[in-house]
Parts: sequence; C-alpha cells; structure tokens
Amino acid sequence: MSIWAAILIVVLTVATMELTAYSVHRWIMHGPIGWGWHKSHHDEDHDHALEKNDLYGVVFAVIAIVLFAVGALGSDLAWWIAVGVTCYGVIYYFLHDGLVHGRWPFRYVPKRGYLRRVYQAHRMHHAVHGRDDCVSFGFIWAPSVDRLKAQLKRSGALLRERDGTDGEA
Ligand SMILES: [Zn+2]
Ligand SMILES: [Zn+2]
Repeated sequence: MSIWAAILIVVLTVATMELTAYSVHRWIMHGPIGWGWHKSHHDEDHDHALEKNDLYGVVFAVIAIVLFAVGALGSDLAWWIAVGVTCYGVIYYFLHDGLVHGRWPFRYVPKRGYLRRVYQAHRMHHAVHGRDDCVSFGFIWAPSVDRLKAQLKRSGALLRERDGTDGEA
C-alpha cells in the first residue's frame, strides 16, 4: 500500500471515529443502556481518579488491538485503520481528558482559537449534570459556545438545574 493511501485511511478513520464517538456519546452513553458507565463522568468529583466511564476507552483500545492483530496477520487495511483508531484515542485523550478535565500533571486553559472552542464546548456538555438535555456530544468537533447556550436555554435544562429539579433521583 502506498504511503498516501495509508495516510488517507488514517484520516478517514479519525473522522469516522469522531462520528462514532458522537453517536455513542449521545445515544448510548446518555441513553438507558450506557448511562451506567458514563454517569461516573458526570458526577461532581470526577476529574482525577479512575472512572467507570474509562471502560469506554478500554473497549476502543481492545478494538484497536484486535485490528492490529489482524493487520499483523497480513491485512494492510486493518493495520492502518488500527493506526487511525489509536490516533483518535491520542487526540481524544489530549483534548478531553487533558485539556478539558486536567487529567495530566499541569493545568492549561486555552485562551483563544480552536482549543478554546473545544474547551468551552465540552464545559457546556458538563453544564447539565443529569443524563438528559446535555449539549455538545462531539470531542474534535465543537459548536460555538453561543449556539450551545441557546440550545440549553431552549430546553430549560439550566433553569431546572438551578432549581435542583434536574430529574435525577
Ligand atoms: Zn456525557
Ligand atoms: Zn467530559
């Protein structure tokens, strides 16, 4: 396989992973099936210790390992998809765990540009503590903070949150 084909597969895999992560986050993790693991990530003091939510990362790591194994048996396609899944994992760790949640040994809050946008968008995801009415489910793709605020306003989620009636038992 040519290097360009390999790069193309990696880039397409990263894009597909973002779509997958968005969908899994929105409809599985915030749905009845997946909330059990994801809830730990929306609890107040979730930032440093290991969380049950990290099991989702383990699932994707296992998928990458299986793809690498298939690749090692001779499938170039599986190998480069595995590289793409791994790249996504690194980007996800950097943006989500590191930048937004400070799960690394230092604190850095971006002041401008794309990183600021990603930071704010995911902060808005955590503005609502319950399972429902959250906004911004992507990790690389980040809507503007104004758009997310308007979305939260429309759903009334922040008001319910303030009144302590966010529906959580
Ligand atoms: Zn979430
Ligand atoms: Zn988060």
